[in-house]
Amino acid sequence: MSTIASISTAPGIGGIGIIRMSGEECFNVLEKIFIPKKKQKINEIKGYTIKYGNIVYNEEIIDEVLVSFFKAPKSYTTENMCEINSHGGNIIVRKILELCLKNGATLAEPGEFTKRAFLNGRLDLLQAESVIDVINAKSDKEAKTGMKQLEGFLSKEIADIKKQIMDVMIQIEVDIDYPEYDVEEITNNQIINMLNNVEKKLIKLEKSFDDGKIIKEGIKTVIIGKPNAGKSSLLNAILKEDRAIVTEHEGTTRDTIEEFVSINGIPLKIIDTAGIRNTKDEVEKIGIEKSKEIANEADLIIAIFDASKKLEKEDKEILEISKNKKSIIILNKIDLKPQIDENNEILKQTGAAIIKISALNNIGIDKLYEEITKMFNLNEINIDNDLVITNIRHKNLITNAINHLNNAKKSMENSMPIDIVSISIKNILEDLGSITGEVVTDDIIDEIFAKFCLGK
Ligand code: GDP
Repeated sequence: MSTIASISTAPGIGGIGIIRMSGEECFNVLEKIFIPKKKQKINEIKGYTIKYGNIVYNEEIIDEVLVSFFKAPKSYTTENMCEINSHGGNIIVRKILELCLKNGATLAEPGEFTKRAFLNGRLDLLQAESVIDVINAKSDKEAKTGMKQLEGFLSKEIADIKKQIMDVMIQIEVDIDYPEYDVEEITNNQIINMLNNVEKKLIKLEKSFDDGKIIKEGIKTVIIGKPNAGKSSLLNAILKEDRAIVTEHEGTTRDTIEEFVSINGIPLKIIDTAGIRNTKDEVEKIGIEKSKEIANEADLIIAIFDASKKLEKEDKEILEISKNKKSIIILNKIDLKPQIDENNEILKQTGAAIIKISALNNIGIDKLYEEITKMFNLNEINIDNDLVITNIRHKNLITNAINHLNNAKKSMENSMPIDIVSISIKNILEDLGSITGEVVTDDIIDEIFAKFCLGK
């Protein structure tokens, strides 16, 4: 494989920058641009050492650097690797990268280092995918789950299940190879039992995605309410407490912004349309129609009402939108003289929790958090003891495996020829193999690694 190079630190101004190289020619390229202070031969420097020296080009010192050496196979990619720690900022790192490229390296594609770690067998595909999760984590729990997957806990569970399926296969083969032994009844029952055991494990993993999705994507939340109910004040109160990550998201009708805050280590993804937070212009305020549209896709609706006013027609429409969804009713402005409270019949009829707050005075926001925690069982998501699937690709493959397993069971129960059963069983093995990457097409691999950032 070629020798690749890339800048691994994020662009911008920072103390240090890191340029990473991997491949057989790595140290030959380095030799042309790096002079260690102690003038050692680059190829003789041991792995797991750091050398101080200069990056030099045309006898001009470009930067003073530290270079970490990793010798194949003991490196991230299992190839020869080095990491040049230079001064940060935009100019020096780019100049050093250019020198690497001029002297024989090629520019790495996004995720190519991790892709090589996978292709060279150091990580399985599931572990490689978890690297993206760790890097992109928006909450503690997401980072922790990613790390657990990277360490191989989930891979081990998949391997265990595969082993059980292989045992089923062996039983079936006994049946095919020695039909003269009249053991059919026993083996049939045995096989069905074995399949039931595997099914239990697969269903548990499939179910864990309910939590996994929340951990990874956050609870998609919208705040709806008529103009002046206090939507933007509530959002500001939440963000003031716990501003996390803002991502711009180009919507179809208008750009929306996703604001992440973390509740008990789980991200709450608040879909903020431009109308909620930034504009004070009534025309720009989010309309009922738009609210409906967004609320449709939400996991949680926070419906906010001005408690100092009687409910109006628009408020009832807001209640209508939140009807068949997980929703929380907020009575805002409790610092003012109340006109409605939690005993209001129309509000009570919805069955939703009613929480009284003053967004402006930051009162009651903790009660809102408590309610969300309760509603989504956030305290029960136990990532320390349970394995959690967070990746939709893995979840879909597990669902496929369960379907194939059911087919196998049905064939057994209907006394279909045993080779029909064995086809379903092979399909299960393939599904599981696609998760860890033993059976997977190049297209899928390319698609997965294209999501990585440069230098990883
Ligand atoms: P939005 O149109 O739903 O986004 O409502 P805003 O958050 O812009 O609030 C409308 C008005 O109500 C603003 O003047 C806020 O200062 C005020 N407001 C919001 N929350 C409270 C509150 O808890 N108490 C009082 N007294 N006023 C509030």
